[in-house]
Amino acid sequence: MSLSTRVHTATVDRVMLTRPFAAFLICALSLATPSFGPSVVRAVAAPQGDVTDADLEGASNGRTVVLGSPAAGNRATTLPIEVYVARVLAGEAEPSAPEAAFQALAVAIRTFATFNVGRHRRDGFDLCDTTHCQVPRPSTAATRAAALATAGRILTYNGSPAEVFYSASCGGRSENAARIWPGVNLPYLRSVVDDVHEDDVPWTLDMTLSELQQLLGAIGFAGTRLTDIRVDERSESGRVTRLRLRGLQPDVIAGDQFRAAIGTREIRSTAFSVSREGAIVRFTGRGYGHGVGMCVIGAGRRARRGETADAILSTYYPGLSIESIGKMPAVLVATATPSPAARPVVETVSSTVPLTVGRTLSGPAPETFSAPRVASGIVANVPKGSTVSAAELERQAARARDALSKTLGTSVTPITIELHDSLERFRAATGRPWWASAVANGIAIDLAPASILEQRGGVEAALRQAMAELFVAPVLGNRPVWVKVGAARFFARTTPSPVPASGKVRCPADAELTLSISAAAQRDAEARAEACFARAYAETRDWRAVR
Ligand SMILES: [Zn+2]
Ligand SMILES: [Zn+2]
Repeated sequence: MSLSTRVHTATVDRVMLTRPFAAFLICALSLATPSFGPSVVRAVAAPQGDVTDADLEGASNGRTVVLGSPAAGNRATTLPIEVYVARVLAGEAEPSAPEAAFQALAVAIRTFATFNVGRHRRDGFDLCDTTHCQVPRPSTAATRAAALATAGRILTYNGSPAEVFYSASCGGRSENAARIWPGVNLPYLRSVVDDVHEDDVPWTLDMTLSELQQLLGAIGFAGTRLTDIRVDERSESGRVTRLRLRGLQPDVIAGDQFRAAIGTREIRSTAFSVSREGAIVRFTGRGYGHGVGMCVIGAGRRARRGETADAILSTYYPGLSIESIGKMPAVLVATATPSPAARPVVETVSSTVPLTVGRTLSGPAPETFSAPRVASGIVANVPKGSTVSAAELERQAARARDALSKTLGTSVTPITIELHDSLERFRAATGRPWWASAVANGIAIDLAPASILEQRGGVEAALRQAMAELFVAPVLGNRPVWVKVGAARFFARTTPSPVPASGKVRCPADAELTLSISAAAQRDAEARAEACFARAYAETRDWRAVR
């Protein structure tokens, strides 16, 4: 069987996370020693004939997932969790794989759902039905049987639902999560050798330099002509982490961002090499997907050679345990009730988040407390035990709003502010790298944890800049990114910004601001954006006219 016929079924990259449900501990077994302790598979009497949705509802013990459909106007459906698992399994598994592979993936899917409850709280549901979360399909007898056989079982780390990932095929070696998502420290998501890919046929893709330039230009790369592309850096698993783009600006791009820009179905993984003959660039690679966590194709091959679900899970998630979600400590019990998404009064466009790489990371959702303060139109959510209270954040936001309204002559209301309790959750909500402090999108502001903002100039400064972005975005929506970022930085200042001598600053290309590969590169690009804006504003004194 060729690689291409194998991979088409498994949906591609995904992040899996989980957030606690209610739980009771039936068993806790170390996956490092799968031969001891009870199995991931429950000792339940098999029903007569096919497993039905009613059987799965009964096995769900009242636990549900509110599934949202962005393609259908965020229509939300409440499903018993095991019905959800059986459907996602139908969307994610290799259809012909043996039972043990289905069971292992069912546990990973359930872990994701548990960890991610409330991921789409703002949209009015828990999880979406796209590759951003997990893709459901009509369940089959085999997927329902696997969901029932493993009902309630999830992967845990230190007693909490684990953050897990899976992808279609690792190609021979899985990837360390920290290499793809810097700042993520999940010791059970390290690179492991997967010895079931010896017969894989490499995939290839030929493109011309001008085709590549066109696609990179579409995500904000500037420059007259792409003359060469080469691999600049690889991770220890052999995946490309950075490429050099001769002739473009910026002249580097991260491997996973490059894959997202060219197409995740075309560049199937970042485990590739690059060769060039004249204007034709050939990519030759292995595997399909980001390669972090369980390898769906590998799980199927392991099951075929007789491995159990426990053995498969312990290979791809070394060091995790399996527990039942029925009886976990009360502190882990999810309390989030999806709240209806606030509707913007002013239609705004996100200024700095043009690229969704389709996968993000998060930790368990913090317990958030919000008291709607309708009069101000500003609602802040802060994590439990936050050093900054919701009321204080709302006061700071109201101050910034009043000052900005006066200066800019625009307003945005209502505004929601989310102060995250960890960088992982901030990254999950925003898709931005760890060095971002705040992200403004529409009417919502996401803030990195207060402890981190304190090291970066303070919570209020970050909040003020995000507020300024909200205010300028509706007017500057179609301008280059530097205009929006520069204007936000410029107007967020409480002391005047220095105006550079004209002609001294090169305005950053969009990608320098949105796809920077380091914190230092980002800082430099933002400083130039502000200088460019200040220079143009000094000439016109009309911020709406800067372009
Ligand atoms: Zn989603
Ligand atoms: Zn593999």
